[in-house]
Amino acid sequence: MQTYGNWIDGAFVEPSRRMATINPFSGEAWAEVADDPAAVDLAVKAARAAFEEGDWATMPGRERARLMRRLGELLTVDADAMAAIETRDNGKIIRETTAQAKSLESYLDYFAGMADKIVGQQIPSPSPDFLVYTERVPVGVVGAIIPWNSPLALLAWKLAPLLASGCTAVIKPSDITPVTALLLAEKAADAGFPPGVINVVTGGAEVGAAITSHPGIDKITFTGGGGTARHVARAAAENLTPTVLELGGKSPQIIFADADPEAATNGLLAGIFAASGQTCVAGSRAYIHEDVADDVIGRLVARAGELVMGDPSDPATEMGPAASDDQRDRIIGMIDAARDEGATIAAGGVVDPELGGRFVRPTVITGVTNETTIVRDEVFGPVLAVMTFSDEDEAVRLANDSDYGLAAGVWTNDVCRAHRMAKRLQVGTVWVNTYRNVSYMAPFGGFKQSGYGRDNGLEALDGFLATKTVWVELAGATRDPFVVG
Ligand code: NAD
Repeated sequence: MQTYGNWIDGAFVEPSRRMATINPFSGEAWAEVADDPAAVDLAVKAARAAFEEGDWATMPGRERARLMRRLGELLTVDADAMAAIETRDNGKIIRETTAQAKSLESYLDYFAGMADKIVGQQIPSPSPDFLVYTERVPVGVVGAIIPWNSPLALLAWKLAPLLASGCTAVIKPSDITPVTALLLAEKAADAGFPPGVINVVTGGAEVGAAITSHPGIDKITFTGGGGTARHVARAAAENLTPTVLELGGKSPQIIFADADPEAATNGLLAGIFAASGQTCVAGSRAYIHEDVADDVIGRLVARAGELVMGDPSDPATEMGPAASDDQRDRIIGMIDAARDEGATIAAGGVVDPELGGRFVRPTVITGVTNETTIVRDEVFGPVLAVMTFSDEDEAVRLANDSDYGLAAGVWTNDVCRAHRMAKRLQVGTVWVNTYRNVSYMAPFGGFKQSGYGRDNGLEALDGFLATKTVWVELAGATRDPFVVG
């Protein structure tokens, strides 16, 4: 059993309380980490000191960029080891955790390129006696709260732009996947980051709540579920702390009759069964044109039965287990409820009879409508609900009839229709004849209950900057100071 403290002010700090982290494949606890809400205050103070007084406060952007790039290089050297830990913690297949660990450097590199290009504007003055300009300044200490499904990748989405902007961080990884964030912070110290710039406090909801209610936090960036987000937004409102919320989805995939059926089937399968459906962008609602529905559903059901499930650390495995017992119970509970509501389970619907444990079979559900609970609520598991439509307007209406608005997939070979659909869908990302592409360059976030604010791209950097306006009197005291203007 390995034990870790919190990472605060450039060193591991012993907590007053610990919790175990479990390997969902073996069911065994493999490490113990801190679960100490009182540590949050220490971490915020360290981040504040680094922001206001330490080397970070005065460091030129180009120097911040150099450290970020160095951290990226060190993370790539250790990518395989980091991926193995992540797979051990959340059961995600090693192919994906390795690809994600190897991508961290590109996020740090992309945002490092912006660190010395943050510029304000000279504003035209209302009178020749004044110089007016703006500066873009870092917002301060950022509380970053991360979920378990892609711990390192989703951390990088937040950490890279906030470091480039000149902010400092108090990071809380999920209680299910706490270790890799600690190791990343340790690597940052190896790269030469000053103490206090990156602090990591592990633990559960109490630790998260200690961050969101802390008056010393200047901005909260949260990725997770809508229920938790409501706690976060309420706590933040008490201190009027601005927030970015990246939340869940119930993303539709729309297959038109002119689409390539093989490509569309692959896109549907990967969209929902990759990461065992435990991704925010899981394409969990399929709307298939009635002329091709039988063909595509037949392909889906056959392929769902062939997916290779097993040890997530085996590169041949295509689908691993659910990340926890709670997750498995929730997924199976929602499938059972769908059955009770009259749905047909066309594939899967059960825990795998041979593998047992947390392995939920890839599940395809038919005989549902937009009113069925499983079509409305996020499952966060390998469950695809399939429905049909007869024309484009109906497809748009059904797809937009959701509380969520994170992403959508459109499968068609008609280029005009593709762009029409992209315009009409109320979601943050539309993929046409592809699914689940993300990049440091492309803004990512939701509409409606999928959240607000954006990770990635120029907008992510912008979210960690505030505008300061400066007025300079050039002609001496020439105006009446008692009159505004
Ligand atoms: P979660 O909401 O349970 O937890 C997210 C984080 O919040 C964890 O670190 C958790 O410990 C912390 N937390 C729990 N209670 C808290 C509280 N009261 N105050 C502050 N923090 C608290 O989510 P999860 O189960 O880890 O992740 C799954 C959810 O995340 C899904 O809904 C999924 O769609 C969503 N998600 C969204 C995106 C996106 O970018 N939009 C990406 C991945 C996952």
